[in-house]
Amino acid sequence: MRMRKKKNGDARIAACASLLISDPKTIMNAPDGAFPQARQGLPLHLEIGCGKGSFACGITKKYGDINLIAMERVPDVACLALERAMACADEREDNLRFIIGDARYLEEYFPAHSIDRLYLNFSDPWPKTGYAKRRLTHKSFLEIYRGLLRDGGELHFKTDNQGLFDFSLEQFAECGLEILWISRDLHASERAQDNVITEYEAAFSAQGMPIYSAIVRFSSRTADAVSSGEL
Ligand code: SAH
Repeated sequence: MRMRKKKNGDARIAACASLLISDPKTIMNAPDGAFPQARQGLPLHLEIGCGKGSFACGITKKYGDINLIAMERVPDVACLALERAMACADEREDNLRFIIGDARYLEEYFPAHSIDRLYLNFSDPWPKTGYAKRRLTHKSFLEIYRGLLRDGGELHFKTDNQGLFDFSLEQFAECGLEILWISRDLHASERAQDNVITEYEAAFSAQGMPIYSAIVRFSSRTADAVSSGEL
């Protein structure tokens, strides 16, 4: 997501400090420590590329019994997400925090097998073949996620982009991941009612475009089978 550099961006982000994990390396030993003590031990979900934060705010309002860390690499975009989350803080539990950072460094931020669920919503498609490695569902990222998710943890993926979706399904198969659910028209599916809509999703579906979605499970069993050549 591109945008002009925000005036007073740093001051605006500083005003949201209570929701920001300002140095993500500090949670490396215990990501739960970013949340109040009474909430520690609840399932930890991570959204990568949260944009302006509609999904992060929506899902944390809907599910009080999870903790969510939302990550965004563009500070000016993260600033809008932080401000949105501050504005609706009273409508949810104290269950949402943000990291301004890049998914490439996830392993420096999170301990192994500490995350229960990962969300990728409308990730940049990087359509040129030469940029395939930048796609957040490229197998090199999936291997990072495998190390960070708990055994049986899930990736919930949504996109408007058919090319990215088909590429992602191939990568899931190559990594031996178990596809639990798939739809090429999420809004016409049985999961439509529980679906929390993102900014991109609202814009694309208003144009009549279908939303592609998949839920995949990471388990150590499939990882072992892939490395032993069974899969
Ligand atoms: N999830 C939002 C925004 C989608 S656009 C929505 O559905 O509306 C994709 C977002 O991911 C952009 O804001 C972009 O800055 C962010 N992003 C892309 N690559 C990233 C990475 N490697 N690490 C963190 N954020 C990333």
